Amino acid sequence: MAELILRDLAKTYKDGTEAVQGISFEVADREAVFLLGPSGAGKTTTLRLVAGLEDADKGGISIRGRDLTRAAPRDRNVAMVYDKHSLFPHLSVYENLAYPLRIRKMEEAEEKQRINSVSEVLQIEEQLGKMPGQLSGGQQQRVAIGRALVRDADVFLLDEPISHLDAQLRARMRVEFKRLQRDFDATMLYVSHDQLEAMTMADRIVLIDKGKIEQIDRPQDMFDRPKSMFAATFIGEPVMNTIPVKLVEQAGALFLEVGTSLVPAPANWVARLGSGHDSEDFVLGVRPQHLNVADPAARGDDIIHGEIFAVETLGSRVIFDIELGGQVVRVMNSVDEARKVPSSIGAAISIRLNSDLFYLFDKSSGTTVLQANFTETKST
Ligand code: ADP
Ligand code: MG
Repeated sequence: MAELILRDLAKTYKDGTEAVQGISFEVADREAVFLLGPSGAGKTTTLRLVAGLEDADKGGISIRGRDLTRAAPRDRNVAMVYDKHSLFPHLSVYENLAYPLRIRKMEEAEEKQRINSVSEVLQIEEQLGKMPGQLSGGQQQRVAIGRALVRDADVFLLDEPISHLDAQLRARMRVEFKRLQRDFDATMLYVSHDQLEAMTMADRIVLIDKGKIEQIDRPQDMFDRPKSMFAATFIGEPVMNTIPVKLVEQAGALFLEVGTSLVPAPANWVARLGSGHDSEDFVLGVRPQHLNVADPAARGDDIIHGEIFAVETLGSRVIFDIELGGQVVRVMNSVDEARKVPSSIGAAISIRLNSDLFYLFDKSSGTTVLQANFTETKST
C-alpha cells in the first residue's frame, strides 16, 4: 500500500514564483524515495507541502489512505529532520532527543527505552550527557536525525540532512542512513541535489527541475535509460558528454558527423529511427567511461582523432579531455589503459567509440530519441 501519495501538487509563492507545478508521485511503505534536482527545483517546497508547513494551491496529499491536504502539521504524523543547527544548544543531547516525546506526553519508561535504542543505532550513546556544542559536526547531525527517529512517525521527511558535512563523513553517513532506514522500517522522502546520494541510497528517484517531474525510476534504470538529456546529464559522474551531431544517410547506411569525422551509426538505428533523417541535427550522448583512448596512429571506422586538452589523474582512473574539431570530449579509463597512450597537453590521441553505448537526443526538446543498447555490450 502506498504510504504517502502526492497528487498534482502546485504552489506559487506570493511574489509569483511557481515553485511547484503539478507534482504527483507515491512513496510505498518502507520505501526510500529521493526527490533529486538542482538548486531551486522546488524540492524543499514539496517537502514543506507534505509536512503542512506550506499550503498547496492545488492538488492533494494523503498518508495511509487519509486525505491530509488541509490538515495541520501536528495532525500529519510526519517527522522532519532539520539540520544540526536546529538542536537546542542549552539542552543536553538526551534532552534534545526527549523533546519531541515530551510534547506528546510520552511516559518516562518508554521515553528512555526509545532514546536508548535510537542512540545505539546512531552510535551516540556516549554523548547523551553532553551539550550539542561539545559534539563534532557529524555527531550533532546524528542527534538531529535521532530527534526525528525517536518518534513513531508514518513518514520521515529529510531535507539535505548531510550535504554540508565533509566528504569523508558524508560517505559514512550514506551507508549509515541506508542501514538506519532498514533498521527502523522507515518510509522516507529524502531531498537532495547530490546525484551520488540519490544513486547510492534511493529505492526510487523522483527527478525534478523547475517545479516539474522529469523522470521517476530506480537509480540504475535512470542511469541506463534516461528519458531526457536533463536526466542523462544530471545522473552519473563524470557528466555524460553531449555532442552536437548531424545524421548522414549514404547508400542506405546511417552515419554520425562528429566534428569532421563520419562515424557509422549503430546497426539497429536505421530500423529504430526509420529513414528520412539525412542532414538532421541531433545531440549525441556518451558517458566518459563508455569511450576509450587509443593510440594516435590507430585507424578504423570506430576511431576518431583529437588532441589532448587536459588530463586529470584520479589514482586508479584517468580522465582525458580531448579536443575534437572545436569541442572537448571527456574519456575516463583505467590507469592501465591510460599508460598506453600519450598524456601531454597538445599531443595527438585517438578515441575508440563503442556506438552501442551511444544515446541520441532531440536537439530542441532534449527528449531521448534512442537509448544505449546494453544487451550486446556490458557497460562498465
Ligand atoms: P530547492 O529546495 O529545490 O532548492 P525551493 O523549493 O527552496 O527549491 O525553491 C523553489 C523556488 O521557489 C526557487 O525559485 C526559490 O527561490 C523559490 N522560493 C522558495 N521559498 C520561497 C518563498 N518563501 N517565497 C518566494 N519564493 C520562494
Ligand atoms: Mg532546498
